[in-house]
Amino acid sequence: MTDLEGHLLEDSPASDFLGFELLLEEEDRSLLSSVRAFMTREVEPVINDYWTRAEFPHDLVPGLAKLGIAGLAYDGPGCPARGALVDGLVNMEMSRVDPSMGTFLGVHGGLAMGSIQLCGSDEQRSRWLPAMARMELIGAFGLTEPDVGSAISAGLATSARRDGDDWILNGAKKWIGNAAFADLVIIWARDTDDGEVKGFVVEKGTEGMEFSKQEDKIALRVVQNAEITLTDVRVPETNRLQEADSFRATANVLRVTRMSVAWAAAGCARGAFEHALRYTKQREQFGRPIASFQMVQDLLVKMLSNVTAATAMNVRASQLQEAGLLRDEHASLCKAHSTVRMRETVGWAREVLGGNGILLEHHVGRFVADAEALYSYEGTREMNTLIVGRAITGESAFV
Ligand SMILES: Cc1cc2nc3c(=O)[nH]c(=O)nc-3n(C[C@H](O)[C@H](O)[C@H](O)COP(=O)(O)OP(=O)(O)OC[C@H]3O[C@@H](n4cnc5c(N)ncnc54)[C@H](O)[C@@H]3O)c2cc1C
Repeated sequence: MTDLEGHLLEDSPASDFLGFELLLEEEDRSLLSSVRAFMTREVEPVINDYWTRAEFPHDLVPGLAKLGIAGLAYDGPGCPARGALVDGLVNMEMSRVDPSMGTFLGVHGGLAMGSIQLCGSDEQRSRWLPAMARMELIGAFGLTEPDVGSAISAGLATSARRDGDDWILNGAKKWIGNAAFADLVIIWARDTDDGEVKGFVVEKGTEGMEFSKQEDKIALRVVQNAEITLTDVRVPETNRLQEADSFRATANVLRVTRMSVAWAAAGCARGAFEHALRYTKQREQFGRPIASFQMVQDLLVKMLSNVTAATAMNVRASQLQEAGLLRDEHASLCKAHSTVRMRETVGWAREVLGGNGILLEHHVGRFVADAEALYSYEGTREMNTLIVGRAITGESAFV
């Protein structure tokens, strides 16, 4: 990727226009720079091919693991405990090059590790988190079901029935990222006894848990989503997340990971913008680079404004997170805003590439497609708007 002119930090692309990376400590800037180098050198050259074939680049996982960014913000056993701001900027960096790889990390290091970190006992954190932080165990997060997405808190139908020292799970899940190859899947199910949603760590190979890969996606094709069926799946009580006694616990995980998606959306927009900017400097029409035309500059500046505004909101929310002050409505505002601006930005990026905007080789087309998934997962724009709306009016407008 070509930098803009006049960047504020030696290693920082000038699409960080207001220098948000200057907020990081030296050590965290160095980590961000390693992530940037890995994504640019190892991922960008090969990712379009994986995207076309809808396959996951398993051979890149050891390199990713070495970066030490799984569960970056968590302070559980073996976790890096590096803070929410650098975690957010790393998420942005991953998606700036490829939103699928950003999603892979978000599901494993955010949703799956986060469920164990925030909802597990000390013993459970010690049992799973160190190997997950090293990416020797990969996690998935099974909440959404074929018949219920946005209404999952009230409508979750997968059941969990206590049977002695075990639980018996029955039901189905849909859209579960990483599931087909994950070593463990967090399954959220409703206790038939008290009606509350509880979390279970279901390990690979457990009898009765079947996967079927979701084919023919038009977005995030590298992410391996699967439908899961659970038929009399027996899970020991020791695998039930001990601190998750209601959907409130699930929501605590989602509050944090929703911020990661807000960051990923800013990254997706930023990547598309940078590719578009580079293209407009190289492409000539009427004997001049198209970057010299006022209407093209107008779109470029609007893209940069969107990226900068989304980043600014996310920075502040991550600072609140570090101070223990992040509320659901903060994360929802950031997720809704960042994804709306992302969708607008990738559209403009495609526009300035003309016909080439729909060719994968110029990368922007992949960002346009992938943006559609980021826009809808971890709470649609409508759901996140309703969460903010309820907070500012005191009126719930969900039904
Ligand atoms: C690529 C991808 C990866 C995913 N990964 C995972 C994963 O790893 N784990 C997991 O558990 N889930 C995952 N999901 C699921 C994701 O979280 C859901 O798709 C999302 O929550 C929306 O649910 P839905 O698709 O069922 O849409 P629906 O809930 O059916 O919504 C359809 C439309 O109706 C609107 N709507 C619904 N209710 C209202 C209302 N009250 N008011 C106004 N509008 C409303 C929605 O906003 C949306 O526009 C993934 C999804 C995708 C696309």
